[in-house]
Amino acid sequence: MALPAPGTRRRSVRQKAEPPCDRPSPNHGERREGAQPDLIVLHYTAMESAEEAISRLCDPEVEVSAHYLIDRIGAVVHMVPEALRAWHAGAGAWGDVRDVNSRSIGIELCNRGCLPFPEAQMRALEELLADIMARWQIPPHRVIGHSDCAPGRKSDPGPRFDWTRLARQGLAAPTPAVVPAADQRDFTVLMHRAGYTGADDPEVLLMALRLRHRPGHDGPLDGTDLALARALAIDAAPASA
Ligand SMILES: [Zn+2]
Repeated sequence: MALPAPGTRRRSVRQKAEPPCDRPSPNHGERREGAQPDLIVLHYTAMESAEEAISRLCDPEVEVSAHYLIDRIGAVVHMVPEALRAWHAGAGAWGDVRDVNSRSIGIELCNRGCLPFPEAQMRALEELLADIMARWQIPPHRVIGHSDCAPGRKSDPGPRFDWTRLARQGLAAPTPAVVPAADQRDFTVLMHRAGYTGADDPEVLLMALRLRHRPGHDGPLDGTDLALARALAIDAAPASA
């Protein structure tokens, strides 16, 4: 039997119960129309310290929250029960989901925005993701960034976030391997099909695509962007029965 690839760890298949909230946030409500979470949205806090971010996420005046926060040494803080609707995504969309908060679980990662994500924080995230995905039967392609569902408005978890590492462990969709395509006319249509329904402006969609799948890449739309959009659109198409 082949050994797991480097960087791949075996995960327990035993389903763990949701932990109790250790810093309960009043900023939550019922999920609308009895929705269950079938998306996970990753964020960074863009604040200096974990304590500062937790205070804000628990402040009734500010009216924002998330289900979890993970600090830079990997401590997981649970603030809103998973069955309830936390206020982390705001305006945005993903595929046919327009009320992202009602359909998602939000995880905040302590990061000012420009720093690498430490190993301990990534490990804690991976463990938490595996547990949430098992509890709610959420597949890897439903783990997205805030920049995916709020293109143009949000850029977190940002270009420093290691999506490839999550994808290697089945905790996010991988970036498709593509050869550049020549025809660039259908970019917006393809991006909408890929799930990016939160914007129509091709420039905004291009920024969101690159944050997630070509971090650090600049310049006008090119054949690789188009080929990526096409491959993601195909991956997102419902399988025929
Ligand atoms: Zn965010």
